[in-house]
Amino acid sequence: MFIQALKEQLGEAPLSPGEVAIVGAGPGDPGLLTLRALCLLNQADCLVYDRLVSPDVMALAPQAAQRFYVGKASRCHALTQDETNQLLVRLAVTGKRVVRLKGGDPFIFGRGGEEAEMLVDNGIPFRVVPGITSAQGCSAYAGFPLTHRDYAQGVTFVTGHARADGSLNLDWPALASRRHTLVFYMGLTNAELIRRELLANGVPSRLPVALIERGTTPQQRRVITTLDRLPDTIRDESLTPPTLIVVGEVVSLAARLDAGCLAEAVA
Ligand code: SAH
Repeated sequence: MFIQALKEQLGEAPLSPGEVAIVGAGPGDPGLLTLRALCLLNQADCLVYDRLVSPDVMALAPQAAQRFYVGKASRCHALTQDETNQLLVRLAVTGKRVVRLKGGDPFIFGRGGEEAEMLVDNGIPFRVVPGITSAQGCSAYAGFPLTHRDYAQGVTFVTGHARADGSLNLDWPALASRRHTLVFYMGLTNAELIRRELLANGVPSRLPVALIERGTTPQQRRVITTLDRLPDTIRDESLTPPTLIVVGEVVSLAARLDAGCLAEAVA
């Protein structure tokens, strides 16, 4: 009933047979799903989802929808990207309404762009629904902003995921600029490299760093450390993916803003 009213209110065209919706599922808390995402989820014949889509979000999908898990823990893919692409095409050409659910935002380190290109190449109609990216969800639920007039005039989302040859070719001097927040996605494995390069480019060793594991979920864990201690902290606290690394002065606000943070219920 609510969904029906929502559909009418949003004025979103119904998902057609043979169409794919690439939908951002947000970082975990189902409350962070957008109304468009919820509306489309409800029309799905097939759900193609990966590891970062939380069970609480999946629980909002209709029971009758067929579920396809396509995995993707780093180095442990349930399906390769090619196989995922083929699956999307196969489902669409057989006239299914497909919702391709991706953790966070599909266009932020989500390979959503590649999937969209592939759908275009195959002549499959699609739409894209943005989601709250983990940087936004995790910082809010960990009690600090990403920018702040006194501490950070900008924020950069950076991949910490190395190429197959092990290299992480980033513009370190640019990343090391002052009064700027850095958010590393997929950065746990390369934390030592991140530390070394930032220090080598003049970032103060005492700069605060937040590590947020499984942010916005009931299992959220937040650990605050400093840049020089980053790899040690990851080891000592046994942090595992998905974890976000946030580097910057804004992290120091966590101690102050925590108390007033509604989301702290999950921390
Ligand atoms: N498209 C996603 C990011 C995919 S890359 C988004 O917009 O958020 C995967 C990385 O995202 C993980 O390695 C981790 O660094 C981060 N991430 C995703 N969800 C997270 C969560 N709930 N808590 C902490 N980090 C998360």
